[in-house]
Order: sequence, then C-alpha cells, then structure tokens
Amino acid sequence: MVAGGSFAGASEVITPPVAISPVAIRPRPAPIVEPVHAEPGPDVVQLPPVGSRDVTGSRFPSGLTVHGGSKHRAILLTFDDGPSRRTTPRLLDMLDELGITALFFVKSESFGNGNPWEREHAAIVREIVRRGHMIGNHTETHRQLPLLRNAEIEAELAVSERKIQKTIGRKPRLIRPPGGALSERVEQLLAENGYTSVMWTLYPGDLEVHTPEEVVRTFFRVLDRRERETGERGGIVLLHDTKQHSLDAVPRLVEALQKRNCRLLEEGEELYDIVDDLGYFIPGHEPDQTLEERQEALRERAQRTCNALAFRQLVPN
Ligand SMILES: [Zn+2]
Repeated sequence: MVAGGSFAGASEVITPPVAISPVAIRPRPAPIVEPVHAEPGPDVVQLPPVGSRDVTGSRFPSGLTVHGGSKHRAILLTFDDGPSRRTTPRLLDMLDELGITALFFVKSESFGNGNPWEREHAAIVREIVRRGHMIGNHTETHRQLPLLRNAEIEAELAVSERKIQKTIGRKPRLIRPPGGALSERVEQLLAENGYTSVMWTLYPGDLEVHTPEEVVRTFFRVLDRRERETGERGGIVLLHDTKQHSLDAVPRLVEALQKRNCRLLEEGEELYDIVDDLGYFIPGHEPDQTLEERQEALRERAQRTCNALAFRQLVPN
C-alpha cells in the first residue's frame, strides 16, 4: 500500500514502514458531547426516570410463550425492528397524541456502541422507556433462532442484553424471536435465560403491503377471521416501527376501532380496548385495573366520541 499523498514507488520508500497519509494524521474530531444523547458508559449510567415501572416485563415468569390471542376485545400494539431515527421518534409523538402505550422489541444492532449514529438510536430507546412504553429484546442480528446453535443463540442474547442494559439500565426479560421462529429447543434455551417469548395473533402484513390503507384493511380482515375461526376477539398486534406506512396506519387503525366501538356500544357489546400492558394476555398476571374496569371507563369515553362523530355526520362541512 502506498501512503496517500506520497508519489514514491514502494521500492523507493526509505521512510519508516508505517507511512502516514495527511488524512490519517489529521487530528481526530473531538467527541460529540451532548448530555441528552450521550451514550452512558459502564460507570455513568444516565437512566431515564422509569421509577418502579416494570418496563422490561420482569414480573412475568420466565419460560412462558405468550401466544397473543384474547377472548376479550383487548388489543396490544407491539412494534418490532426499531429503533429507527427516521420513524420511531415520530411514532412516539403519535402514540402520545393517541394516549397509547405499546411494547417495542428493539434490534440491538443499531445502538449500544459509541458512534454518534448509535448514540442517537440509544437515545431513542431511552425515550421509548421515558414515554412509558415497554421494551423487549429482538436480538442483535435478527437471524432466525432455530437455525442457530445454542452457543450462537446465547452469544446473540449476551450482546443484545449488554447493549439494552447499558442503554436503559435494565436487562430485557421479554423477547420476540425474529420472524416468530421458535422450536422446542429454542424455547427451552430462552426459558433458561430468563425470557418470556411474546408472539402475536394479529399481523396486518405491514412488511408486505405498502400503504396505510392496506395495513388497516388487512388488520380488520385478520381480526375478523380470527374471531370467526378461534373465537378470539382481541390479540397482540405486530407492526414495524421502521416503516412509514405502518406509522401512518396507527391513527387510522385507532379511528376505525373507535367507529366499531360506536356500533358495539349501541348493541351493548364489549368494546375494543387498546391496552397498555402485556399482563392482559397472561392469565394470572393481569394488571391491577381489570379489563372489566377499563370497559366502564371506555364506555364513557366512547359515548362522548360517538356523539361527536354522529354530530359531525349530521353537520357535514
Ligand atoms: Zn423483526
């Protein structure tokens, strides 16, 4: 290799063998020190104020596989594959506006080390927690776990756990296996490593379709089919916070559920409830507020929303 900036042929080089190009000797830029985005080092952990909230699902017993269906009209939104600086921050604002708490399964590949890009993603992961959402592990490299040997799976877990721990100060306890791929061996191994696997029953195909309208249409098709075929009227929804059309689908989905609730309210039926906790899908681990109690509050809110919607229809603008 000839050093940049030197025109000497290799045989003529009499300078020390480590020829340094002008580019290489340029002083390294000072590290970007930005309190908000700074990646916490091992000793100085800058934690978001999570308080005693169970942001990682540590209260659930390990070794469970939560399949994600519910006989109630309970809906939990989960977002996989982020964080993405392009889309996740906007989604967090959207969820705040809608008053929705979700569960994010983060891929640790994009954060956890020190470069500015990774620090930016780490800050987003902390922001997810700060805004009240839960965090789970979606592995480092997103390879399907049944295709890996035990040692490889444990290496995946070790890396992602270290990064998540470093970022939010807590070890992940929930995992979404990439592609939903599991086997008996993998389940056993995840259980031994203290994990609860979280699957889904409602996938609106946001990786396959490309518009928010198609996402919403597919969501309701899947929801109705599951109700017909399994009797499950609610479930865990899988979306991806890396896709703009998935983000755009969220408010539309919520609005469509609200419209359905207006009809259900009239019929005296259970309403769709976008819940804020995985515990509603794990018998014996429901949060303090029961689904029945939530329904009461929901009915009051729905009554107001439906009145307003009906009024808007009466008075077209
Ligand atoms: Zn994924």
